[in-house]
Amino acid sequence: MGGVDTDAGRWVEVGDGVLARRYTELDLTVGLVLGGERALVVDTRGDERQGAEWAAAVRAVTALPIEVVLTHAHFDHCFGTAAFLPCPVHAHPACRAAITATAAAQRAEWAACYHEHGDPATADALTATRPVLPDHRVDPAVTLDLGGRSADLRYLGRGHTDHDLVVHVPDSAVVLAGDLLEQGAPPDFGDAFPADWPHTVTALLALGPRTVVPGHGDPMDPGEVAEQRDALAEVAALHAAVGAREIDAGTAERRSPYPGVPWSGVPRTATHPPEKGDSRAG
Ligand SMILES: [Zn+2]
Repeated sequence: MGGVDTDAGRWVEVGDGVLARRYTELDLTVGLVLGGERALVVDTRGDERQGAEWAAAVRAVTALPIEVVLTHAHFDHCFGTAAFLPCPVHAHPACRAAITATAAAQRAEWAACYHEHGDPATADALTATRPVLPDHRVDPAVTLDLGGRSADLRYLGRGHTDHDLVVHVPDSAVVLAGDLLEQGAPPDFGDAFPADWPHTVTALLALGPRTVVPGHGDPMDPGEVAEQRDALAEVAALHAAVGAREIDAGTAERRSPYPGVPWSGVPRTATHPPEKGDSRAG
């Protein structure tokens, strides 16, 4: 196992009893929703060591029983679940399937990446991690009664993956969005559905949030979310133009609002499996 996790994170209060926790590692953002009887943990970090730090931070804030929701199957959001057990672990059924199908490949790819970047401790922690499979299905929506407040777990459509969940806390007008949104870095298209993604973000905005917590970066206001949606719509239009052979992939890449960000240049359909090999965590 790796050494001590030195990336201890910092809390950001985004609503009454709704907390985000920010990490230097991958600029990750996870969440905590405090009810009167239960607390909801949104994402669990990237390995068992990181998950243990995150669980200890949660336990320093609340002794309430915990439930976990995983926004999606990328390792940095869901490989740290073990430290929270025993507890219910909510996710879209396709998230469970994706963890099962891709965990070994994600471990190998990212352990190699951490080794290359001079962080063998994180590489070793990741290699030693066996991610927990979610045991509670969300398809398309589940409302959790946290005691005096509710949290709505919602699948709003394909986007960053085919199984992104968002967490809507209506009484605080906060939405925790996972990697459907990223602040401070371009969205990750490695497993994405570009044609669907802007519509999914529009559905998120229809929830009426005052604050949206992205999966990476700082909390966003609705105007920033709309800007990112519009940029995603530009990407979708470029994908469509490539698919219709109106422009070639190189032209589309040059016109992209996210220049230099890898994307397939081929419009995805449900029959295309997610492609691996991106250089960046999503
Ligand atoms: Zn992701």
